[in-house]
Amino acid sequence: MSGFKDIGLSKELIKSIEELGYKTPTPIQKECIPFLLEENKDLIALAQTGTGKTAAFGLPSIQEIDFKLKQVQVIVLCPTRELCIQISKDLISYSKYLKNIKTVPVYGGVSIENQVKSIKKGAQIIVGTPGRTKDLINRKILKLNVVNRVVLDEADEMLSMGFKDDLDFILDKTSKNRQTMLFSATMSKEVLSISKKYMKGAKEITVSKVNSGAKNVEHHIYNVSSKFKYEALKRISDYNPNIYGIVFCRTRRETKDIANKFINEGYNADAIHGDLSQNQRDEVMSRFRDRSLQLLIATDVAARGLDVDDLTHIINYTLPDDPEIYIHRSGRTGRAGKNGISIAITNSRDGRKIKLIENKSQIKFLNKDIPSGKDICSKQLFKLIEKIEKVDVDEKQIEPFLDDIYKKLEWLSREDLIKHFVSAEFNRFLDYYKNSGNINNNGLSKHKEKKFNRESFSNFSINIGRKQGLSPIELISIINRTLKSNEIEIGGIDIRESYTIFEIDSKVKTDLINKIKKTDYNGIDLKIIESKEKIGKKFSKRKKNKTFFSKKKRKKRSDKNFIFRDNVKVKRKKKKNRF
Ligand code: AMP
Repeated sequence: MSGFKDIGLSKELIKSIEELGYKTPTPIQKECIPFLLEENKDLIALAQTGTGKTAAFGLPSIQEIDFKLKQVQVIVLCPTRELCIQISKDLISYSKYLKNIKTVPVYGGVSIENQVKSIKKGAQIIVGTPGRTKDLINRKILKLNVVNRVVLDEADEMLSMGFKDDLDFILDKTSKNRQTMLFSATMSKEVLSISKKYMKGAKEITVSKVNSGAKNVEHHIYNVSSKFKYEALKRISDYNPNIYGIVFCRTRRETKDIANKFINEGYNADAIHGDLSQNQRDEVMSRFRDRSLQLLIATDVAARGLDVDDLTHIINYTLPDDPEIYIHRSGRTGRAGKNGISIAITNSRDGRKIKLIENKSQIKFLNKDIPSGKDICSKQLFKLIEKIEKVDVDEKQIEPFLDDIYKKLEWLSREDLIKHFVSAEFNRFLDYYKNSGNINNNGLSKHKEKKFNRESFSNFSINIGRKQGLSPIELISIINRTLKSNEIEIGGIDIRESYTIFEIDSKVKTDLINKIKKTDYNGIDLKIIESKEKIGKKFSKRKKNKTFFSKKKRKKRSDKNFIFRDNVKVKRKKKKNRF
């Protein structure tokens, strides 16, 4: 344990971290701990979660506390409730062998009363989200007169979450002689400006972000055209039956859309994003932590503070613009000596972002092919067979039923019996993938091979339209889901006020009419009838299942009700969340 002794930590702290299994200080701890124990200067550390930064600022801060003084001396500010709880837990376990030390987490979304009581009992360290911390200062519960250390943890996130005013307020009110420690994964303009405003002569430390853990992480690219991104996600999940990971999306909207479709299709996933209440977030997080959920679909901000060590995969559904964010995302797998895979689902426009990431880090991406339906079926089948092989057979429990079962299945040969068992368990995959095509951008997709032929199309009318917030993309997705295929040729889509006319391959006519009856859209039972009505001229120039407009037309057509996404005209989203 000499590593920690050498950097000046007390025996009580060493004893507790020894129990936590820390053997040697991480690079950031080696740099920060002796500095913070000896100097009163400010510190800027570029480091992300997983580098050991909590102990880097936590251990020296605890050691420097005046135990006799029952007043707040250290404030740690962080962006989310989860991180707040995590940091407090860490600090409390570090101070296990120090009797008179009290750390209190304070965050919004819960009653303030208990937090007030805890602070009044003599807290010396406050770990808080900026909003609640400011609130407690305003109420004069959190007094700042002896606060001599302020830690800004994940400063970039706090700023991007809009906490700048709260941080300004708190930093303005604390003593100018305080020591400020700023930890951030990225040095954005905003972080730089806050460091200039509130810190002086700061020591700067950068810990190698990429190397830590990156050796264990493989980086894979799956290149598909934008319209196959979701299908690619499904195939990746199906190809990895034991996947346990996070799917990163760019916006709340994208997160919700993907999660909604994914969950509806029976995947073991859920989403966290800024629109969830704290209780909903907690519930999802805890299901993910205890592995009841395999995939968490999240924005970068919402996934903050989620500290799970054994993720098998990180999936970048959308690549971030900032390479640092990719590095941060992928650093969530391949931890604690385990192997991990970070996947980027890209399209042809992402080449620049990939280059930027490779130039900024030692990451080398490997191009991979999206698994074919056949690959997926054999992988899943193998998993099923393995499960059957390894299942615990409780002879006693099944004994009373066996005679009847043997009798019932007497007519089947051993081979037929196996076929029946496999089919019973496995038809979802076989059905779904039986006609699946190659969706790789480098290969020829089925869509590309087929020629659009209006002769083979029928016109239909569906009982939802503009009033129900329908967009062409949503209609396509309803049809794909209903027919369990994304290979259906859809022609023009003309969305009217309360119904929609669309063209679809005549071959699927009967199937669609029958199956759609069992489907609903936001509670409205769907009905489809064949229609004699013609698609409005302006909507009939569709190419396969999208509407393309020239740049000039886009501009002309753009009005307050519509926006263009991927060159497709879609109805502007209402502010209200429909999900
Ligand atoms: P952090 O970057 O603070 O979120 O820490 C990431 C993980 O590393 C946490 O699970 C810590 O408990 C663990 N950790 C921190 N310092 C050490 C160390 N010196 N040795 C082993 N594990 C550590």
